[in-house]
Amino acid sequence: MKKDIRKFTTEELIKEFEKLGEPKFRAKQVHEWLWKKSARSIDEMTSLSKDLRIKLQDQFEILPVSEGVIQKSTDGTVKLGMRLHDQRLIEGVMIPDDDRNTACVSSQVGCSLSCSFCATGFLKRERNLDAGEIYDQVVLLNKYALEHSQKPLTNIVYMGMGEPLLNFDNVMNSIRIITSPDGLNMAQKRITVSTSGIAKGIKRLTDEGMKFNLALSLHAAVDEKRDKIMDINHSNNLETVFDSLRYFYEKTGNKITFEYILFDKFNDSLEDADHLIELYNKVPAFINIIEYNNVEGVDFKKAKSEKRNEFVNYLRNRGVSVAVRRSRGKDIDAACGQLANKNQ
Ligand code: SAH
Ligand code: SF4
Repeated sequence: MKKDIRKFTTEELIKEFEKLGEPKFRAKQVHEWLWKKSARSIDEMTSLSKDLRIKLQDQFEILPVSEGVIQKSTDGTVKLGMRLHDQRLIEGVMIPDDDRNTACVSSQVGCSLSCSFCATGFLKRERNLDAGEIYDQVVLLNKYALEHSQKPLTNIVYMGMGEPLLNFDNVMNSIRIITSPDGLNMAQKRITVSTSGIAKGIKRLTDEGMKFNLALSLHAAVDEKRDKIMDINHSNNLETVFDSLRYFYEKTGNKITFEYILFDKFNDSLEDADHLIELYNKVPAFINIIEYNNVEGVDFKKAKSEKRNEFVNYLRNRGVSVAVRRSRGKDIDAACGQLANKNQ
């Protein structure tokens, strides 16, 4: 059995190379090929001698993600289907905006949480992605950022398929290498991890000194309602989640956003807005009001636009920082919650 060479940290790689009688600097060189230069095969590592490449190929392999179906939206958004080494499929999205190009990446194949409104939740969770597979999505999507505006990716959001904090180690390792000078050298501030609210995960990432932004998929501001649409709320209720958010904020001072999808006649009343304000007062945050993207077989509908305006103005008039997020890539089902490998 060959070893997956991207599973090793630099230090571990140095030890592996020692066993092969190879010096430290060779391990460093290979590390650079693997990450900074995102080599897809050992053969590409042309600064190594042919003999060494053969020796490495005997023991190690790279398991890269390959490009599958590409769909381009009229608004410039690109949805990229990607195939994993075990033939499983995931999706990622590149969203261009005036001054930014954002990659939306997946953290798992499917999702175990089955929120009642989300297309990904209908797929069963098949497996976690490893750090290399998350990294590869960024590298592949970067190509479309460059193609679109001659500018590389500026931001990364973990808002594709899966619950990032239920694949904790791989997600943190992917962020470490994306932000490392040995990798893509992006700032943690440019990264946002979206979670359905895994309190322990939020505490743990704070303790590990991670400084990226957090988005909480809130969608309902009282437990009774949230229980109905997000199973995870039964084990991680709002009080527990908000305790962990306070902890994150106190230690990092980093940005927190609440994502709130407005569903018709479910969470769009002014009473709901009052509950949302109560939560908003618990920890400094921004609120993103999200338009629901219809999912086949789901009874929820997006709120009426008059209701939305009323809800948003009510919040604004009470000093809440709130923005309405327009959906991107709708014509290709690339919007949030619509990633479900439909066209592959
Ligand atoms: N599992 C994580 C990250 C992926 S989902 C999480 O739940 O936060 C990314 C975002 O899309 C979440 O805020 C999620 O609630 C939202 N979403 C899911 N389905 C949606 C839909 N049909 N329309 C709009 N947003 C949706
Ligand atoms: Fe999973 Fe997030 Fe979809 Fe819920 S909203 S099913 S946690 S991907």
